[in-house]
Amino acid sequence: ENNGGNGRKKPNILITGTPGTGKTTTSSLLADAAQLRHINVGDLVKQKNLHDGWDEDLQCHVINEDLVCDELEDMMEEGGNIVDYHGCDFFPERWFDCVVVLQTDNPILYDRLSNRGYTGSKLSNNIECEIFQVLLEEAKASYPENIVVALQSDSIEDMSKNVETLVDWVRRWSPAS
Ligand code: ADP
Ligand code: MN
Repeated sequence: ENNGGNGRKKPNILITGTPGTGKTTTSSLLADAAQLRHINVGDLVKQKNLHDGWDEDLQCHVINEDLVCDELEDMMEEGGNIVDYHGCDFFPERWFDCVVVLQTDNPILYDRLSNRGYTGSKLSNNIECEIFQVLLEEAKASYPENIVVALQSDSIEDMSKNVETLVDWVRRWSPAS
């Protein structure tokens, strides 16, 4: 039996990667070009209070993974979503038809995160996360290898090419593939 797409009419794509690699910018362009719904998980967590408070050390919300998954379940079942988040191991495997891991060369990422105001351990933790390819390893450990793709996101040209590649993939995707 061919179970591709789990009955969805449109595919679900996860766009993950270290903060600053371009998830939100890429997701937003892709959503427009391929007529998909962009779900920025970080924003959703804040809007709907899907967290267990504020982590003073890490300077971020402590995401409640169960609440996030409950919130997204119906939309994911429907299909046609781009999920944008810097983590990927707590979403159900069955949700996604494609998992994109964006990657950026270190000096470029360093500048982007500095421009965003990151300093100290927040900056160095994210740089280390990228050096050790934490998100690529997490994606490979959490999803079938044949749906995980790493894309370089150093320049505007890279981003345009990535969006083009993904738009083509969405056009070719069919529920039975
Ligand atoms: P993320 O959502 O992964 O944290 P963003 O999409 O917010 O990353 O991008 C962070 C910053 O880097 C933004 O200012 C964005 O314009 C810039 N940026 C992202 N990707 C690229 C790229 N491929 N080329 C040039 N600038 C980029
Ligand atoms: Mn983002």
